[in-house]
Amino acid sequence: MLFAPPNLETKELFWIIYILILIPKVFAKVMSVRELFPFFKWGFNIRRSNFLVPILSNNVIVTGEEAVQYEKPLPYIPQHNQQQQKQQPSQEYIQQNSSENNNINENNNINNGKEQEQPQSPDVVNQPTKTNNNNKKIPIKELSNEEILIKLEKGEVLAYKLESELGDCSRAVEIRRMLLEKQLSKKIEPIPYEGYDFAKVQGQCCENVIGYVPIPVGTAGPIQLNGSLVTIPMATTEGCLVASTHRGCKAITESGGAKCTITSRGMTRAPVVRFSDIVKASEFVSWINDNDNYQALKAVFDSTSRFARLSAIKCTIAGRSVYIRFKCDTGDAMGMNMVSKGVEAVLDHLKIIFDDMTLLSISGNMCTDKKPSSINWTEGRGRSVVCEAMITGDIVQRVLKTNVQALVDLNIAKNLIGSAMAGSIGGFNAHASNIVTAIFLATGQDCAQNVESSNCITQMEACNDGQDLYITVTMPSIEVGTVGGGTSLPAQSACLDIIGVKGSSSSKPGANADQLAKTIASAVMAGELSLMAALSAGHLMKSHLQYNRAKTNN
Ligand code: ADP
Repeated sequence: MLFAPPNLETKELFWIIYILILIPKVFAKVMSVRELFPFFKWGFNIRRSNFLVPILSNNVIVTGEEAVQYEKPLPYIPQHNQQQQKQQPSQEYIQQNSSENNNINENNNINNGKEQEQPQSPDVVNQPTKTNNNNKKIPIKELSNEEILIKLEKGEVLAYKLESELGDCSRAVEIRRMLLEKQLSKKIEPIPYEGYDFAKVQGQCCENVIGYVPIPVGTAGPIQLNGSLVTIPMATTEGCLVASTHRGCKAITESGGAKCTITSRGMTRAPVVRFSDIVKASEFVSWINDNDNYQALKAVFDSTSRFARLSAIKCTIAGRSVYIRFKCDTGDAMGMNMVSKGVEAVLDHLKIIFDDMTLLSISGNMCTDKKPSSINWTEGRGRSVVCEAMITGDIVQRVLKTNVQALVDLNIAKNLIGSAMAGSIGGFNAHASNIVTAIFLATGQDCAQNVESSNCITQMEACNDGQDLYITVTMPSIEVGTVGGGTSLPAQSACLDIIGVKGSSSSKPGANADQLAKTIASAVMAGELSLMAALSAGHLMKSHLQYNRAKTNN
């Protein structure tokens, strides 16, 4: 029979049906090359679609517009993820990650078509990010915060680089907060961040910024200091502190005011160097102690800054090591950076002269920075300040609610003998660090330096036949600046302005930092007077309970 139907097998029948379906689709231009020749080019790729067309035993192809997007092989999605995969990743995401996908599939092919599990976070798969029309990655700053968050989690963007990547410090803070909240699984809303100029923090004051911690600021005084009235800003969360200091200021001012002088100034840095033996080490010390050599080193040091001026070098030998303590004037800056820069230049110079010298560290702890030590107490560091006042007997009675003799006796028993019995270094006072730290916080100082800046001996004497009280505080190592570090932040700068010492002194470099050190010493004296008065009169617990405990918290 001429027209008898051929005896088709199931497989051949299938192909005929398939081609019949394809022809109209090809004419309608809704199929990709990949669909037409799936078994040649894409034999080992698996993909789901709305139109599942079985070509080989375990292969499927995609159709229509979707297929056009998938001209490149796609990653294998493990079985357990296939449910999530039904929410298709955005085409943008696929495009952006096409190079990664290529690698995955190349690996799969290399492995003889064995499917390798390529773990992908469902979050990542389901989250879209943007790309431009040329399929190139677009700058991070043009992505949404959520897209950047994904990249942070994947490690494609580093959290600490957000400010430089985005060129927007506030947005960097916002995104870092999102990341932290996700990592902690808790909110950090109470830490504020809005309305703050984080550009002023960047590269100077803090890294990995997520906001700021507000600290209440109060003012004590004004106190009459060297003939002028000075108001003292104090940032603290300790109830009673500002009130107590204010009472001391009142007593001092009503008695005629405080006098204060700077006895020495100079920031210090003490590198440690080592020689081959003790002879070489002692020859080095003799060389430094020679005045001509010292002058040569001073010229090198002073050339490194407009403000840093070397004033002394003191060497201490320990075995074959030498600790070279440089001391220098640093104008209105606290001066740690300045002195370190100058010391580095001198060490470079010394290395040329002493080829046997090895630098172990630019800081050998005889500086001494931010640690208790007797060298700051005896030699001074930063500003060394002495402050005095005569408090009349009637003001001791009326304002301080005690009497002169009680104060003098308590000072001996507590601040002198008590501290001596405790083996204290620089702690011959009642609470100097309270006042120092509160002013440091308010004015943007390096708060860790409250360790040595709080060194203080408080002395009290009865005078004028026991009628009046003579008080002094001696503070050899107040380390402060009015330029650099946190002093340029808006709130801290405004607090410096309250004292009248904002920024660089126009009259004489260093005059503003001098005045700040004097203000701190006079405020410490006020604080000493008031606390000692409260202790001698037995008022301390009563006032602390009144101010430190909220009424609801009895
Ligand atoms: P520090 O040395 O205290 O760590 P910086 O490194 O920020 O502080 O140095 C202070 C900066 O301020 C220096 O660049 C210095 O040149 C500049 N500066 C401007 N005016 C003064 C001033 N009156 N006294 C000291 N430094 C000043």
